[in-house]
Amino acid sequence: MSKSLFPKLPLRIRIVIAATAFFMAVAAILAVLIAISVRDMTNTATSIDDARARHAATAAISALQEHLSATARDNTVWDDGYEHITSPEAKEFSDTTWGRSTKDNPLFDASIVVTPEQTILSSYKKGEEFDPTDFFGSSLADLISHAKTSGRVPVVSFARSVDGLALMAAGAIQPYDQTVASGTSFHTLVLVRLLSTDTLDEIEHTFDLDDLSVSVTPEPHMLSVPLNDADGNTLTYLQWESRDPGAMIYNRVSGYLLAAALVLVAFLVAVLVTGILSVRMLQRSTDRARHRATHDVLSGLLNRAGILEQLDKAIATDKAGLTLHLIDLDGFKGVNDAWGHAVGDELIKLVAARVQSYLPANALFARLGGDEFAVATPLDTTPDLAQTIVECVAEPFMIGGRTIEIGASIGTVISENDVPDALELLRRADMALYTAKESGRGKAVTFTAALDNDRHMAAELEDRLRKALERGEVQVSYQPLFDAKAGRVVGVEALAQWMPVTGRVSPEVFIPIAERSGLIDQLGMQVLKAAIDQARQWKTLALSVNVSPIQLRNPNFPADVIRLLEATGFDPHRLTLEITEGVLMSNPDQARRAIEMLRNVGVKFALDDFGCGYASIGALRTFGFDRMKIDRSLVSGLDNREGSEVLTATISLAHALNIPVTAEGVETQEQATALKLSGCDQLQGFLLGRPMSGADITALVRVSAA
Ligand code: C2E
Ligand code: MG
Ligand code: MG
Repeated sequence: MSKSLFPKLPLRIRIVIAATAFFMAVAAILAVLIAISVRDMTNTATSIDDARARHAATAAISALQEHLSATARDNTVWDDGYEHITSPEAKEFSDTTWGRSTKDNPLFDASIVVTPEQTILSSYKKGEEFDPTDFFGSSLADLISHAKTSGRVPVVSFARSVDGLALMAAGAIQPYDQTVASGTSFHTLVLVRLLSTDTLDEIEHTFDLDDLSVSVTPEPHMLSVPLNDADGNTLTYLQWESRDPGAMIYNRVSGYLLAAALVLVAFLVAVLVTGILSVRMLQRSTDRARHRATHDVLSGLLNRAGILEQLDKAIATDKAGLTLHLIDLDGFKGVNDAWGHAVGDELIKLVAARVQSYLPANALFARLGGDEFAVATPLDTTPDLAQTIVECVAEPFMIGGRTIEIGASIGTVISENDVPDALELLRRADMALYTAKESGRGKAVTFTAALDNDRHMAAELEDRLRKALERGEVQVSYQPLFDAKAGRVVGVEALAQWMPVTGRVSPEVFIPIAERSGLIDQLGMQVLKAAIDQARQWKTLALSVNVSPIQLRNPNFPADVIRLLEATGFDPHRLTLEITEGVLMSNPDQARRAIEMLRNVGVKFALDDFGCGYASIGALRTFGFDRMKIDRSLVSGLDNREGSEVLTATISLAHALNIPVTAEGVETQEQATALKLSGCDQLQGFLLGRPMSGADITALVRVSAA
């Protein structure tokens, strides 16, 4: 297929080109065939007529020769003639019989009688005596010598004369019946017919020939036959103009031929124009289809397939390298959820237009789908482009009177021509983007080999975590929660513990991995189950368990927890689930449904790590939390005045909303005292107790009770 004539063109276009070419070829072949036929016809007509003319001319000459020969024979083989010519009045006889009759004789123009001794006896031309030796030159003597040996048949020959070409017939004058003694010499009679214009006109007329003339060398464009002397040597040529009937025929039909040629040319032009127009139309529709396949309808930018193709081309041709930025909008989903897809679409268009205005002319710009864009520029053209894009997208957008603020995270990959193809380029940029997203909003991260390593290690860790979960190797430790006033242990927070042989892995590392890989549901339920099993032995202690936002998004989660509580007979009122604010921001409705279902059976909810994230008062109020846990970062900020004021304000806020407060990460006695004075009713931290085994908690409870 690739060996075809037009390998790059679509099939439809190739068919049109082939059909047009076929029509043109057929028409051209027909034109050539007609031209050849016409030429052959005219040539044949001309050559047939030429052959006829040549035949007629030859016949005319033969007739002339035979005629003169017959006249000469009648006058030479003649008893009376012989008698007179051999008598003394021979001269008188010759002059009257032949000489004077040349004046108006239709058969010959001159007569010469030569004696056996070769002297001229009588010579007349047109009735007048003349000197034949001067007139004919040597040809006369030649002819006479031939005539001596020719017997009764006269010798006929063409000869040159002073008056032009002449036909001569010579015969020996001899008796018809009488026998003559052998060795007798005869008189010779020479009759001459001059080929005058009258003679030629007569031949023309009789034999239907045109413009006869005599020429020593025939002219090339004329037809001719040779005229020979007695020895058979060509003396001269009789020539005439060919009638060229072919040309006449051609002239007659040339009008029709011209009309036919014009019709053919018009047909060819029509076929050609139709072909060109069809090819153009098909090309245009192919281009449109191609454009649709490689461009995004909403933004008009290249789409994923489009930029992949362009990138592959750039990688193959541009040896200088390029920079690819992968842009993901922060908070776009929220805009879509809050104001609908029409506003979301409008926002995509505005973002595309704004980013475009900051790009160099030679940049490739694409929308990969959803809220993801890609920008590719030649290497080093705009070094700060990622930061420029982050800043320009962070500027507010106005849509239908609304002010919308979003952000952009960017993953950049710089290829100094060391990335094999576009897919790999995109994969690396994607990895950098992932890292940028993980490290918060509005970040730009450039891909490095280390990132690849991190990903690799993360993938390996994920694999190990999966196996650890299957083998039940993820354990639970318990950190005691103290009543601030009484200083007693009132509860525990269950914390996942993973201690493979290679050393402890922090939950801060493996929890996000479990969340990304979908293992979090399994891990969460394992921790919950282990913690409940353990806590059942403690009778009075409250149990706090951390729940990931991902778990809360799972519609089965509340039912699973309730089933577990029922199965173990654990009092739901003793259980507190700790959640962070993130889930409330990203999936408020789902979170609300799950929380309501579980609160209905008596489970309590604590807002974990308050103060490190969005710290939204709205969330605290609408979800009606049973407890707020102040983040470790706020507690450690107690050391300075500003920090302690923030902490005091936060605790006051919780009290105003009637929510009891737990302080996390209490490490010093000063912190414990300050928190107690500020109104925290529960304390948690290394000062009071590190995360420990269930058995250690049992021992601690005993000591604390004592
Ligand atoms: P968290 O829920 O805020 O848990 C408290 C973390 O603070 C624990 O770290 C604990 O060891 C640490 N901590 C407690 N007191 C102090 C202190 O005085 N100083 C310092 N520096 N640290 C203190 P850990 O065990 O590394 O857990 C980290 C986070 O991982 C937890 O923060 C929680 O968000 C998450 N996590 C742990 N286990 C689970 C689990 O089973 N499920 C889920 N979804 N998340 C978990
Ligand atoms: Mg917690
Ligand atoms: Mg916490």
